[in-house]
Amino acid sequence: MKIFQIERNSDCPCGSGRKYKRCCQGRVDDATRRISQAVGVGSFTAEGLEVIETLGFLCGLQAEGGHMPAPERLGQLLQEAWDEEDEIQYNQDEGALSALSMAFQVLLGEKHQLRSIRIPVWQFELEFGQEYESEDEEIELIKEIIDYLVGPGGREFMTEALKCTGMSLLYDDYTDGELKTLLAALGWLVVDDTRDLFLFSVLYKTRSDLMVAAQKVTEIMEKYDEDDQEELYQEMRSILFNYPVYDQMLSDKADDDINFVMEAVANDELNLDVSLFSVTAGDLCHDLQGC
Ligand SMILES: [Zn+2]
Repeated sequence: MKIFQIERNSDCPCGSGRKYKRCCQGRVDDATRRISQAVGVGSFTAEGLEVIETLGFLCGLQAEGGHMPAPERLGQLLQEAWDEEDEIQYNQDEGALSALSMAFQVLLGEKHQLRSIRIPVWQFELEFGQEYESEDEEIELIKEIIDYLVGPGGREFMTEALKCTGMSLLYDDYTDGELKTLLAALGWLVVDDTRDLFLFSVLYKTRSDLMVAAQKVTEIMEKYDEDDQEELYQEMRSILFNYPVYDQMLSDKADDDINFVMEAVANDELNLDVSLFSVTAGDLCHDLQGC
């Protein structure tokens, strides 16, 4: 499944409103050529070429105020990342592979633009992140989610993940080592056969974000009484900001609840004399986390 299929005459994905061929295509082609030269092998596998083209695309799109790493640096690091992965595969080194996944999960937490790459697990209507009867049950749930996302249903997620990766290259700061990790993960995402590696890493990071955020919310709720709504609000805000996936989950769930509350108010069934925030946050916290 090719992620980006852009016709010369279609609107440029950079959002300028111009045709691709009159806007970014020249830059994309130039970046792709420079990356493949820096990778420095005569010919690439079809998968390798697709990774290079995707990277060239991310590098070439018009953007202001960013600092995209030079295509030569990216090409060289991509080659190093590939060499390391070849070695992992040759030695069937599970430990090294999970270390790479962990390094990527650290990036997912630390790089600002990567913080939106999370899987909206609640949309799968699975009790993800809760207590399980057994480890097998949890593994089964994880498999269901991954199976769905590697299929056509995951297309939107993948496009978003690529966009965020491009933004991160543009606006976040990277050391060479971090870039190598990101490029390995980009390869996982682009190539069909390895996409589950990318999804597993993101899924584990998503789960840990949701758990940490829920834990922090519980601590805050216990710390403040009703007189400290202002401070409670501030601390809640900072958690929602730092864990956008938790914020997104609450918003998705709150949609129903807020409508329900509003309807009840309109019908005079409910006298709303507390701030809406404390209604939603309090109820949601109770519903979702049992706190
Ligand atoms: Zn453009």
